[in-house]
Parts: sequence; C-alpha cells; structure tokens
Amino acid sequence: MHRDKPGRAARILVVEDEAEIAALVAYQLTREGYRVETVANGAAALDALRREEPDLLVLDRMLPEVSGDEVLQAIRSDPATLTIPVLVLTAKREQQDRIAGLELGADDYLTKPFSPRELVLRVDAILRRAHGEPRPVAGGGRILRAGSLRVDVAAHIVTLDGEELNLTPTEFRLLRTLMERRGRTQTRGQLLSEAWQIDSSVADRLSTRTVDMHVRRLRGKMGAAGEWIETVRGFGYRFQASAGAQPRRSRQSSL
Ligand code: CA
Repeated sequence: MHRDKPGRAARILVVEDEAEIAALVAYQLTREGYRVETVANGAAALDALRREEPDLLVLDRMLPEVSGDEVLQAIRSDPATLTIPVLVLTAKREQQDRIAGLELGADDYLTKPFSPRELVLRVDAILRRAHGEPRPVAGGGRILRAGSLRVDVAAHIVTLDGEELNLTPTEFRLLRTLMERRGRTQTRGQLLSEAWQIDSSVADRLSTRTVDMHVRRLRGKMGAAGEWIETVRGFGYRFQASAGAQPRRSRQSSL
C-alpha cells in the first residue's frame, strides 16, 4: 500500500462523538503509522485546530451542538485553515449529505458503515493529492501556464500576475483538470470524477450543481482571468485554448 508520510507521520484529527467509531478510526489510522488525535465535538475540534494544524481532518457530520457542517464552514472561511483536507463521515440514508458536503468544501466522503480498509485508502489518497504527488497518468512536477496564470502542480501553488491565489484543494484540482485538458470540453460528470475523484458511475447520479458552484467560486477568485473557464451550454466547461494569448481586459482591441 502506498504510504505518504514524507519525513514524519502525518497528523490526523478525528472529530466523532460516537466513542466506538472514534476508537475504531483512531486504532486503524494509528496502525498505519499516522499520528491521531480524537475529539468528540465541534467546539473541541475548532480548539484543536487552532492549537496545531493537522494534515487532515476526519469529520463526522452529525455532532452535538456545533455540527460537522458548521465546523467545515468555519474551517473553509478562515484563511489559516482553508486548505486543510477534510474527509467527512456521513450517514447512509442521506444521499443529499454527500452533495451538500461537497459544496461546503469536503475533500471526500465516507458513508457509514465503512470498512477500516476503505477509510485508510481514502485518507492515503487525500494526503497524496494534498501533497501534490503525481498521479500515474497526470504526471507531477509540472507547471501549467496560461498568460500570467501559473499552476505549480507539485507544489499546489497557483499564481496570477505573480500573486498567489488562495484556492481550496477542490478548486485547485478543478483548475488543474481543466488546464490539463485545455481546449477540450469537460462534462460535469468528468469533472466530478476527476476533481472530486468520485466514481463516474456515482458521479452520474450526483447533482451537477456542485460543479457549477465550485466553478463559480473558482472564477470569482481568478478575477478577469475567470472568463478563461468557458461554459459550454448543454455540455460542461472548457479552459479556453487561447487563454492568455491576448490581454485579458481588452479582448476587442487590436494588438
Ligand atoms: Ca455522530
């Protein structure tokens, strides 16, 4: 199995009020060599996050008082914790949970009951992506460029006009996927399976609103360069083949 612990064991914060599940998760991750801290409620989670930033958060959705969603929202709205990868644990009966959570910025989902092996695989995969390790097909260590937009695939750093953009992990993968397939239209299902790494069979059944919302946010962060991500009506999205070839603000002017 692939292990992603460069130099030191990755630190994982587990937020789960059900003691049995918390213990199982902690046991399994510790056995894999991760450093694990468990807390039983949302307030304690936020305290723990401020104390020491974890490499990954395993967050149960159903928590007393401060819900998992509220914790996730707090994390994603604070620049200090914005990029912490989050794996959300959710109840089986609520399919909508998955969608809502993705919209809030979870990196992945695990539906209860889950197998310990599945949990470890998901955690490994999220950390691998978070650290920008190359995937077999995509290849890492590359710089994707369009005009003054620069995406350092390995370092997970996006700059525009020399300034770093503060993208969530999902927004980063979305942009990367679109740029890697520059000029080619990607359906929302393709983007869900690539940027969210959701099985395409599952992705087909998911709300495509999730993709639209993340594209909207990504465009917003890109300012005028956001228009390089084109909406292809009835199909999906496409990163403009000619992006960056002309000044962004004066496309009408002759060169
Ligand atoms: Ca719970």
